[in-house]
Amino acid sequence: MAIDVRLVDHTHDPIRTLYTAYRVCYSSFTPAQIEARIADERISAEQMREFVEARLATGHTSPLQQVWFEFGISGVSRAFSHQFVRHHMGISFEQQSQRYVTYKDGTFPYTVPESVRRAGMAEQFKQAMATAGQTYEAMIAAGVPAEDARFLLPNATNTNFKVSVNYLELLHIADQRLCTRAQWEFRKVVSLMRAEVKRRFPSLGVQLQPKCGEARLGYCDEAFKDWEACPIGRKRPHKSTLFALYERQQSGALADLGERDFELIEREQTDDAEPY
Ligand SMILES: Cc1cc2nc3c(=O)[nH]c(=O)nc-3n(C[C@H](O)[C@H](O)[C@H](O)COP(=O)(O)OP(=O)(O)OC[C@H]3O[C@@H](n4cnc5c(N)ncnc54)[C@H](O)[C@@H]3O)c2cc1C
Repeated sequence: MAIDVRLVDHTHDPIRTLYTAYRVCYSSFTPAQIEARIADERISAEQMREFVEARLATGHTSPLQQVWFEFGISGVSRAFSHQFVRHHMGISFEQQSQRYVTYKDGTFPYTVPESVRRAGMAEQFKQAMATAGQTYEAMIAAGVPAEDARFLLPNATNTNFKVSVNYLELLHIADQRLCTRAQWEFRKVVSLMRAEVKRRFPSLGVQLQPKCGEARLGYCDEAFKDWEACPIGRKRPHKSTLFALYERQQSGALADLGERDFELIEREQTDDAEPY
């Protein structure tokens, strides 16, 4: 079963909600006055978007909790879902139950990882799933309740979610789970969530980045060996590089440009001139 992620609902107008939330903090107007200025178009949609985008570059994050997104997610494994539900701040889950849903005819949907296919183990994997399905079916037929027959079901078994998450937590999940250190299935799901938000609200969607992204920390805070192994490591500096740069600057090794430097800049470059 393929992974499917849909943005099924959201705060009516996230940019307007964020604009009002931030404006209340920085304005002498009351919330009602701010709303009136939006309603009679003294504040345009463009002005709201620009104002919100500028605030998104700051550490003022509590207004982000006032915007929520609802996703329908299907075709994900229980290996993924164990990780997903560890996020618990600003997110609410409903997950398909293996107590109330009984699989029929000894079959259940499951995921075969690409690494298993590449290793040429896909047929053995499917055989193991079929065997588990047959035993599951036999237990159900023998009167074992679904809540106990499920003890046999593997991590590969697929499950479905209906999730509500606020924007602050979605940014945090993207920080962690778009990082190349996260599991491939989680990276896939969050990439699809990002695509859904970006499709509807581009300026909010582009902020959903791994924590090293230019809109987030801007550097990698993982272990140096993980940064070295990361396929996008060359695009983002490791924190140790930044600290080394800071120390060089503090020790005077990165002094300000002086008159001698400007003389070098002004000097005409000729073939026999000393290179600088
Ligand atoms: C690469 C990777 C590997 C992992 N490996 C393991 C593993 O081997 N074993 C394992 O058990 N887990 C593992 N995890 C899961 C991890 O430990 C977290 O449980 C999970 O990522 C949820 O994130 P969170 O704690 O930030 O929770 P969220 O609910 O997403 O929290 C959001 C933020 O709210 C704040 N917050 C949350 N809870 C509290 C609290 N109680 N008190 C104060 N502030 C709070 C924190 O600032 C937190 O970052 C791994 C996660 C990643 C990304």
